[in-house]
Amino acid sequence: MVRERITVGGIVQGVGFRPFVYRLARELALTGRIVNTVHGVEIEAEGRPGNVEQLVRALRADAPPLARVGAIGRRPVEPEGGSDFRIENSPTAEGRTAGVAPDSAVCADCLAEMCNRSDRRWRYPFINCTNCGPRYTIITDIPYDRPTTTMAGFEMCPDCRQEYENPLDRRFHAQPNACPLCGPRAWLATADGSELELAAGEDPLHVAGRLLRRGHLLAVKGLGGFHLACDATSEKAVATLRSRKRRQGKPFALMLPGLAAVERICRTDRTARAWLASAARPILLLPKRKRPASGLALSVSPGMEEHGVMLPYTPLHYLLLEAAGDLPLVMTSGNMSDEPIVIDNEGALDSLAQVADYFLLHDRPIRMRNDDSVMRRAGRKVFPVRRSRGFAPRPVRLRRKLPPVLAVGGQLKNTVCLVRGRDAFISQHVGDIDGGDSYRFFVDTVGQMLRLFELEPDRVACDMHPGYQSSRWARRHGGKPVVEVQHHHAHIVSCMADNGITGRVLGVALDGTGYGPDGTLWGGEFLAADESGFERLGHLPLCKLPGGEAAIRHTWRTARSLFGAAMGMEKLDKLGLELWSRVGRDAVSTVDRMISTGINCPLSSGCGRLFDAVAALTGVCTEALYEGQAAVELEAMATRVSSARARKYEFRLNQSGAMVVPDLAPLLEAVAVDCAGSVEPPEIARGFHDCLVSVISAVCRRLSAESGLNRVVLSGGVFNNRLILESLGCRLRGLGLRVYSHREVPPGDGGISLGQAVIAAHN
Ligand code: ZN
Ligand code: ZN
Ligand code: FE
Repeated sequence: MVRERITVGGIVQGVGFRPFVYRLARELALTGRIVNTVHGVEIEAEGRPGNVEQLVRALRADAPPLARVGAIGRRPVEPEGGSDFRIENSPTAEGRTAGVAPDSAVCADCLAEMCNRSDRRWRYPFINCTNCGPRYTIITDIPYDRPTTTMAGFEMCPDCRQEYENPLDRRFHAQPNACPLCGPRAWLATADGSELELAAGEDPLHVAGRLLRRGHLLAVKGLGGFHLACDATSEKAVATLRSRKRRQGKPFALMLPGLAAVERICRTDRTARAWLASAARPILLLPKRKRPASGLALSVSPGMEEHGVMLPYTPLHYLLLEAAGDLPLVMTSGNMSDEPIVIDNEGALDSLAQVADYFLLHDRPIRMRNDDSVMRRAGRKVFPVRRSRGFAPRPVRLRRKLPPVLAVGGQLKNTVCLVRGRDAFISQHVGDIDGGDSYRFFVDTVGQMLRLFELEPDRVACDMHPGYQSSRWARRHGGKPVVEVQHHHAHIVSCMADNGITGRVLGVALDGTGYGPDGTLWGGEFLAADESGFERLGHLPLCKLPGGEAAIRHTWRTARSLFGAAMGMEKLDKLGLELWSRVGRDAVSTVDRMISTGINCPLSSGCGRLFDAVAALTGVCTEALYEGQAAVELEAMATRVSSARARKYEFRLNQSGAMVVPDLAPLLEAVAVDCAGSVEPPEIARGFHDCLVSVISAVCRRLSAESGLNRVVLSGGVFNNRLILESLGCRLRGLGLRVYSHREVPPGDGGISLGQAVIAAHN
């Protein structure tokens, strides 16, 4: 007989880990105990050496689905000769460090029970167990225990209590455990808030499904916030949703009843199906099948070659889709444009009354707002465009232990990040923090993260931009030394941490705009960077943005400036492009004056502005209705033809001073001539993409040769672009360089909090 003390770190609390070990120990005839500690769990196991060995192996190999087993430590101790294996409670340690797990989709066992007529939770929309259900969204404080969740107000009935207390039950210490007798309930309300009366034998989900089938718009309270739902096959319903939500252009996400339904509207493969069905249940962007076979309304995602699709992830969603006759549903965030998603019933009735006809409500409060995550394919890999529900606040594991830091992220697509030891905890997607509500959400998220992870940061990291709300907060409220981090440096180090690499690399940071220390707007940057600093080795050419922010929305302004500078205004006008007559002579001459005087024309090396300009000139997108629209639509246009059919464009690689700045005038002039001629937009769009890839790889090649750096790190919002990411990766690898792109955190500004945190920790 031997006895070992075994410690297990990682996410091992609130995920059914102790009952799992308890069952294992009993099967292996081991005695001893298991207890939660501040670091995870501690096991003492006594029995035959082979059996103890088997237990340790199973800890990692057979762990419960939501567990993330970190480091396992073992050491022999004196055998005690006990007679049983016990789960011990340690209320002080419960849930302290490892307790905050991401929310998880309902598991197969719970679904089976929900569909079983004789089960006491038949058709119960809030069924869950230790392997599934809400976590981060319902936690109000630590330690993670029923009273510190939004389930505090629901007293468990004797049956639920018995499950909760039985170590052999799947619901042992499942904090959100509930049933129709004692748990939350769902109901339907009209826009004035009054509950809809139902006929005998009907439940609110049946009726909600019928309302959707009839073309009504529903606000549906979910896991991390409200959705707005409607029949995705009804042109009228989708168009009504667009006009009432005042959201033009931007694609709507879809929820489909199962993988077969996804396959009918999109092309999938094994990787895609595994992600769709994963416990995180993200929205996955997948290539569309052609209408009308898909049956979807055209206005679901106009101008796109992909649909954002997801599978149901709460029991309520399953019941809703079934009641809707398995129709594909539009499921878009329940908010008005630019505001955070609504999370409470009153807020929904208040702010979504103009949009939804009916409200499917429930009484389990949402503590933390958490929007759906969005992921995209790149080759065989999948990367997040928005990392939120199902992932947050799971940490990114760092290469080494760092001092405690809070990083407050950027201004758009904000997330915040806490570093504690080797873990970097990244918050859910907070979004654009311009408005009052969004700013309050940001402040609340910072406070909640610091509380849940019990962190006392010794410094606060923020963006250098003086105008960012997050940076202002850091300076005013942090009360700690503030480390200002350059935007693109943060992008690169974020991608390094994401890949677990350290040291000096060649960083390519491409995005819209970020604050540059030289007073211009950066966004097409080639940096030699590591965790403690960077050197700017090159950048894309500077361009005037007539009217600053206004040029980002009215993409034609950037086109005027960029193409005018490349070939001269006179030559540009001789082409007689239709675009200028469409925007009007007066508007054009106002902008021309701005360009020639340079008044209100900030200079930008932003890569996004190139996409804006080309999208405008090709007619793909002359006014961006949402951030990044021009780039997204230009990429979609480019995917319609192969490189073989694309136009071939050229560029020059000149050196201005010590800085490498490619000359894109030949590319831009040729694009303008093609736009004026009879060349099809997809051929131009594809040619532009291919040329940009050539530009970037040529710059990388030169800089790598000069600097000796052969690891290239790709980050910034432009790398949400699949065409660029895939073909640039290929090209750089072909040059013998090692290429790193994002894996767990988004390439866009949702990822910069991680980079800020790591840089500040090295400061
Ligand atoms: Zn379950
Ligand atoms: Zn109950
Ligand atoms: Fe950025």
